[in-house]
Amino acid sequence: MTAKIIDGRTIAASLRDEIAARTARLSYRPVLVVVLVGQNPASSIYVRNKGRAAAAAGIDSRTLALPESTTEAELIAIVEGLNADPAVDGILVQLPLPPDVRNSAVIEAIDPAKDVDGFHPLNVGRLVDGLPSLAPCTPRGVMKLLDAAAIPISGARAVVLGRSAIVGKPMASLLLGADATVTIAHSRTRNLDAECRRADILVAAVGRPELVRRDWIAPGATVIDVGINRLPNGQLAGDVAFAECAEVAGAITPVPGGVGPMTIACLLENTLEAAAARRAR
Ligand code: NDP
Repeated sequence: MTAKIIDGRTIAASLRDEIAARTARLSYRPVLVVVLVGQNPASSIYVRNKGRAAAAAGIDSRTLALPESTTEAELIAIVEGLNADPAVDGILVQLPLPPDVRNSAVIEAIDPAKDVDGFHPLNVGRLVDGLPSLAPCTPRGVMKLLDAAAIPISGARAVVLGRSAIVGKPMASLLLGADATVTIAHSRTRNLDAECRRADILVAAVGRPELVRRDWIAPGATVIDVGINRLPNGQLAGDVAFAECAEVAGAITPVPGGVGPMTIACLLENTLEAAAARRAR
């Protein structure tokens, strides 16, 4: 079998077009503020890409670049200022933060109504409860890929490999909310390959290049690769050994060009939805 390739670039482009069409009908431009602390090169590239995609979708994206020496108290004061600013619809604090700044303290300072990353405990709780919420962008993007590829979720056995707060846990909540039977696997899981083989839908978010091998995949399964790993030779690799798994899977995402483009598109959608909800109040 040769898997159908789920093309995240095309699906994300049509989502961005849809967002652009929706923003064009508004009487205002939604405003996203990205707070970037320090000089992490990967973060800087990512933030620049977000800015470009936002502009093309009719969203006004501003970056607040702060020095590495910014303290937790200073950062929280800045976030509180953005919370209070009626012109700001979405706040994204780019992770990682400097070692002396607690992620949790900063995330909890963000107004949940402006929390376009969906990391605030209130949004996390709403997601787990199955209530409308701003859901984290990467898992949200995965759900859209599954939908675009017409993969049945209700009743399917889904295995989420990885349990981070950013990807694995919210991914599991979204799949459960869509009526999948969900297993979360992680570094302590016994017989990881056998767990994965049970999956109709396997979402790999571990950060280990090509951990998932051909014999971990059930014939015909859908494989979504969230991993972005930089190899010593500079190339990007996913968490899934793409070529060999594509021979067994029914559908599979490539890296790059799979989940990655969806994350930014979903950030824009979260910003638009946060703007619409807050400005309607
Ligand atoms: P984390 O490092 O926060 O979490 C990794 C998870 O994988 C942990 O739950 C860990 O288990 C588990 N894990 C690690 N090694 C193994 C192993 N050998 N076997 C089984 N489980 C293992 O990573 P993130 O969730 O933040 O990111 C995961 C990947 O996704 C990374 O490559 C990252 O770059 C990528 N990513 C891509 C995005 C995109 O837009 N496409 C967005 C965000 C992330 P334990 O909890 O037991 O330690």
